[in-house]
Amino acid sequence: MKLHVPEHPAPSDAQARKSVAPVICYPPETLPSVDLAAYRAAREGWALTEEVLVPPRDAKGFRVPAGHFFRILSVEGPQVGDLNLWSAQDLSERFFSGKTRALHGTHLSSGDRMWSNLPYLRPMATITDDTLDWYGFDAFGCSVHDVIGTRCDPYTHHVLSDGDHYHYCCHSNLTRALSAASQIKPQDCECHVHDVLNVFMATGFSRETGQYIMKASPVRPGDYLEFFAEIDLLGALSACPGGDCSAEHSSDAAACYPLLVQVYAPKAPPKGWKEPARNGYDRTHGLSPDQQ
Ligand SMILES: [Zn+2]
Repeated sequence: MKLHVPEHPAPSDAQARKSVAPVICYPPETLPSVDLAAYRAAREGWALTEEVLVPPRDAKGFRVPAGHFFRILSVEGPQVGDLNLWSAQDLSERFFSGKTRALHGTHLSSGDRMWSNLPYLRPMATITDDTLDWYGFDAFGCSVHDVIGTRCDPYTHHVLSDGDHYHYCCHSNLTRALSAASQIKPQDCECHVHDVLNVFMATGFSRETGQYIMKASPVRPGDYLEFFAEIDLLGALSACPGGDCSAEHSSDAAACYPLLVQVYAPKAPPKGWKEPARNGYDRTHGLSPDQQ
């Protein structure tokens, strides 16, 4: 946090420096275009192929072939979900929350993509429908589906609670789910759990202090966030112990509900779609052949 009272005096041209107008870091028009109409047309006649019910304070894995869709649905009550995605063939390729935030902004909605980490950097999934898109930003500067939080985890809780051990944070839930889905021991696959897409969570930054803030999720049963899998995906979804995240997490105090994952197979892929290749940068990083 910035100091309430700065320790260093402002220079004489401070106002001029502060009044320089910002520019958008990554103008969206420079990204590959997304043909939402073509994606949505591919839903016509699709078939539900799998349903996975994620119990409260737990997580489940699921697989989505490239070219299929999946939905995360609220089914019984307001509940936030923490989503991880990996390449189904290679766990080292996984969702890159930070670059997705830089490319699309703090909160995602229809037409935005979930990008993978370096050196792969390609779209893993495209959001094709969002029943909470009406929310926009509220008077507190909050919105839904953020890529600014990380995930609740037992290590932070251990520090903040002065030594408590809580085992059902999203980080632990995702670790157990990935272990079950990959057949890798929990302690060996924990390092593959990563910063999440906070599905349905309402968050923002305090305008006064820049602190990460959260409030009761506006999600209600029937709401969903829908994705198109650009590559073969292994996903894991945690039903956060914070429930609607209106007050606290990392405990059993909040009312929690299940979340439902549905996977759909379209009759045919979206018109013009092809699976994105891994990033084409040559990875020489300015080194000559004899230095590489
Ligand atoms: Zn959580």
